[in-house]
Parts: sequence; structure tokens; C-alpha cells
Amino acid sequence: MNNIENVDSEVTNLLALEQHRQQSQLSLIASENYSSPAIRAFEGSIFADKNAEGYPGKRCVAGCEIADRLENLAIERAKAAFGCEHANVQVMSATIANIAILNGLFKSSDQLMAMRLQDGGHLSHGAPFHVSGRSFRWSFYGVSKVDKQLDYDEVRSIALKVRPAAIVCGGSSYPRLVDYEKMHVISQETGALLWVDLAHTAGLVVGRAIPSPFPYADVVTTSTHKTLRGPRGGGLILCKESLAEKVDRAVFPGFQGAPKMDLIAARAALLAEVQQPRFRDYACSVLTNAKALERGLKDAGAELVSGGSSSHLLLIDLLKCDTTGAEIEKALLQSGVATNKNPIPFDTLPPSKAGGLRIGSAALTTRGFDEAQFFNLGILIGNIIASHDKNKGLQTLTAFVRASVEGLPLFNHKWVS
Ligand SMILES: *Cc1c(COP(=O)(O)O)cnc(C)c1O
Repeated sequence: MNNIENVDSEVTNLLALEQHRQQSQLSLIASENYSSPAIRAFEGSIFADKNAEGYPGKRCVAGCEIADRLENLAIERAKAAFGCEHANVQVMSATIANIAILNGLFKSSDQLMAMRLQDGGHLSHGAPFHVSGRSFRWSFYGVSKVDKQLDYDEVRSIALKVRPAAIVCGGSSYPRLVDYEKMHVISQETGALLWVDLAHTAGLVVGRAIPSPFPYADVVTTSTHKTLRGPRGGGLILCKESLAEKVDRAVFPGFQGAPKMDLIAARAALLAEVQQPRFRDYACSVLTNAKALERGLKDAGAELVSGGSSSHLLLIDLLKCDTTGAEIEKALLQSGVATNKNPIPFDTLPPSKAGGLRIGSAALTTRGFDEAQFFNLGILIGNIIASHDKNKGLQTLTAFVRASVEGLPLFNHKWVS
């Protein structure tokens, strides 16, 4: 730290401010987590400066013998962690993984299917303002109006009609699990590839807290920084051996340049960490804690999209309340709780206001928050949403946050041996 300070005091000052912000706020942002100190140390390590363009044994530059060993180690660990036949560890994020797969496996005239953005999908699954949406023909499926859960009959009837080259499943604000077996049956019947975007729930799958998309998925793309608790900017592509060559060519030379070897080091370490028994405990705790949060919110009268959660992620429905996602996000942050406004299925508000609030249990579980604390936090947030005079609730929440962050680490050492 001292060294850095002598070089650039302006940036170090911002580092210190961010350290304080992270320490003193509680993050319920469903797409955030804290990676272990070891994994953070591998990022920015000496490997950061090595150009290793190409793949192990087939590099475009010299001096890659050790980089080859590192990348092969990360690949073997990824295959073991996810129980899959092939892994590409070079993609720099899940979004980039998705674009690489789109470019490498499909023609721009292909018809594709994914979950509607408002129902819980992701921008990189064909949103009209995203590069994925500009280059392919997309059809969207969604949740049923009755229970706000995935409507598999709709998926099947659209797939039978449009005969997509691929069905994409997985999203960023769907609080329930995807039935991969059902999706597999539909994709088989309609001749589509089954492509699972596991960005949010990868850690829960590896920790065996929820079912795996394998052996049903043909290809899986994921980020590493959400429930998987790894580095940001470290995507993975996992697939069947039959797609291995196409997938690797899609990433390099099809889309990316040289990989970031320090991120591959961080990923390799992560993929060992998540195979330890303690990571299973972590994944189970993330689920238990989300349930506690759910109970607290419901006890305080809050309404949840689909009636609850089956993962780390909850979506609060604010449409019947006299408020918006943007207002609640702002109010909670003043008390030190970070969340995000989020559109919900059948939303009537513009995305900038949003009729929902998305929260998740992964980051605070990493810090060591327990079930009782999650339950209490749920009650406090639920009370604020329900009340017309929000000030009293916010004062109580502020006091709760101040008391809870006292001595609370960002990464609790109980999660690693
Ligand atoms: C978060 C998310 C992504 C994007 O991940 P990055 O690694 O930040 O690019 C892609 N797909 C889904 C479903 C996500 O939730």
C-alpha cells in the first residue's frame, strides 16, 4: 500500500474511500460478492504482464511454458468443478462469452430463443439495444401471468413454431430455478441447442445446493463473480466435447485477443476453492439465508415476485405500493444498504423507476451474516416498504447497519481453510 501511495495519492485516496464504503455498507446486490484474499492477490500478479495469445501448446508468442501449465490447470479444475467435458477459461466476462458463442456457433440469419428481459432474462440475450439483438432473429418466452414462474408450455409452443437454432435459459432477475430437464426435452423435440447462461447461480450449482444444467446443456456460459465468489471479468464457457473446437475458435481467434493470464490464475485458484467442502457449506448458507430474508420480508407484508425465491435472489414487487424501485433503492442506500431497482414481469413503470427491487444473499453470506441477521434485515426493509412514513423505519435500519458492520469482515475466513 505504501508503495502505491508514493506513486499516486489521488488513486490511493479513492481506494481508501472505496474500502470504507464497502466496509460500512451492507450489500444486498444480487450480482455482487467478495472473493477471498488469495483470489484477489492472484489478480494483478506477475502473470498480468504475460502475453499468451492462443491456447496451451499452440501460442502465437514464445515463453508460454508456464502459462500453458497454468491454463491447463484451470481447465482441468473447471471440468472437475462443473462435471463437464470441456472448458474454456479465457473469456473475460459472461457477456463476452455470450457474444463469442453467438458469433462462433450461429449464423446471423439463425433464429434464437431466450427469456424476455422484463421477465428476468439478460441484455446479452438479444435485447434490441445490445449487439446480440442487432445481429440475430430472436423470439422471447417468459413467465406466466398467474404465478410469475417460467411457462414451459409457452417455451414449447414458441419453439415448435420458430424452430430455433438454440434455446437460451438463465437470467439475471428470475428468482426461481430453471428446470433444465424440461428445457432439454423441448430443445430435443425442436432440434435446438440448449444453452444455459449460469452467471447468477454457478456457485450454487458447484456447491451442489441446486441442480446442475449438466448433462442436459450443450453449452454453458457464466461469469465468475456472482454466487461463484470469484474475480470480476473472468467468464467461463463449459460444453460438450463435440462443441469444444468450435467454442475455442469462437473465443480465439474468433472474438478475443490474448487472454489475461493473471485472471486465469485467479480462476484456477477459485476453481480449487469451490471444490472444498466449505464452499458447499457456503452455497447451502446462501440458500438458507435467502429463505430467512424472504420470511422477514413477508412477515413485514412485502410481496415477492413468484411468491418467493429458490435461489440467492429475491425480487420485491412494489407495484401495489405507493413507491418505485428507484425510490426504495435510494432510501435504503441512505441507511447503508445497497440494492438495485429492477423491472418486474408485467411492470407498468419505466425501467428508470422500475416496479421492483432486486436483492440477494450471496455477498452478505460471504461476510458472515447469519440467518437471524438476514431475517431481521428482511423485516426492517419490509417495514420501510409498507410504511407511509418511511423516516422512522430508515432510522431503525441505519442503527441496525451501524451495529452489524462493526468488525464485520468483507470476506469471512470461515469460508476457506
Ligand atoms: C450478470 C450476467 C451476465 C453478465 O456477466 P458479466 O460477467 O458481468 O459480463 C450475463 N448473463 C447473465 C444471465 C447475468 O446475470
